[in-house]
Amino acid sequence: MTKTTPPVARYRGRFAPSPTGPLHLGSLTTALASYLDAMHHQGDWLLRLEDIDPPREVEGAALGILDCLAAHGLESSHTTIWQHNNWDRYRAVCHKLLNTGHAFYCQCPRRQQDSLGRCISDCKQRDLAAHGNNLRVTLPTTNLDFVDRVNGAITA
Ligand SMILES: [Zn+2]
Repeated sequence: MTKTTPPVARYRGRFAPSPTGPLHLGSLTTALASYLDAMHHQGDWLLRLEDIDPPREVEGAALGILDCLAAHGLESSHTTIWQHNNWDRYRAVCHKLLNTGHAFYCQCPRRQQDSLGRCISDCKQRDLAAHGNNLRVTLPTTNLDFVDRVNGAITA
């Protein structure tokens, strides 16, 4: 019997700006770093516009960001992904998470969350409605361990 070698995943870097205004120098630097990292790994570099928060979006900002990136030689290896095109898919996943007890609605603003960004008001037990609240994914009560390329081993 012949063994097959599993396919090696091609490296993928990405930049995912929110169109809340013009691209600022910090974001451009982040885009350049992720682009160079992807090129160093002979991978792809993807652009994904986070255009799913209409109240915060500035008209024309998305195209301005793409123009700015292109002017600096930063163009996606593939078709740019516009997150608003995935709304139906996201809604379906959110419903699935809610229906399986892996998510809940939370009314805690960011300033009231604990240092890890978790709900502190027991919103999961209150069965809150969707309108005006945030959807939170239920995390395991055990520690999450992972290795970050920059910061090393992380336990949260
Ligand atoms: Zn909460």
